[in-house]
Amino acid sequence: MPCEICGCPNVKWLRVSTVARHFACSTKKVRRLIKSGCLLGVRLGREWRVDHASVDRLVQECSLVGDPRPPQ
Ligand SMILES: [Zn+2]
Repeated sequence: MPCEICGCPNVKWLRVSTVARHFACSTKKVRRLIKSGCLLGVRLGREWRVDHASVDRLVQECSLVGDPRPPQ
């Protein structure tokens, strides 16, 4: 069952290619988000894995639908 927030598979670490497909963007873009700190990732050799919770957070923070938190 996919995640309710981001629609990605419910696993702790997501492949960069999976995240890219879900957001319809390039894997390069996903890696850039990791490097810029928007997403939390770990490097496994030549591949990156993306922390699922950081994807959910990005979706929730950037999403225009739903219930955005008021600025503090
Ligand atoms: Zn998710």
